[in-house]
Amino acid sequence: MAETPFKFYCDECGQKISVREKQYGMKSNCPNCKVAITVPVPEGADSIALEETPVELTSARETFILCAVLMLGALVAGVYVVM
Ligand SMILES: [Zn+2]
Repeated sequence: MAETPFKFYCDECGQKISVREKQYGMKSNCPNCKVAITVPVPEGADSIALEETPVELTSARETFILCAVLMLGALVAGVYVVM
C-alpha cells in the first residue's frame, strides 16, 4: 500500500497535522502547542497500526500449520510409496 499522508487538525490549536499510515492510532504531540494527541484512524484504513501485529501472527501461524500438514502429508505419502 502506498504511503498516503493523512491530515487532521489539533483539537487545541487547530494546527493541521499530517501523518503517515504507520502513525494511525498512535499517541503523539501537536507540533504547534505540544498537547498530547492521539492520531485518528481514517475511515477505511481500519486501524492498520493497531491490528497489524495480531493479524500477522495469526496468518503466519496458519501458514506454518499448513506447511507442517503438507510436509507431514508428503512425508507419509513418500514413506508409503517407498514401502
Ligand atoms: Zn495543537
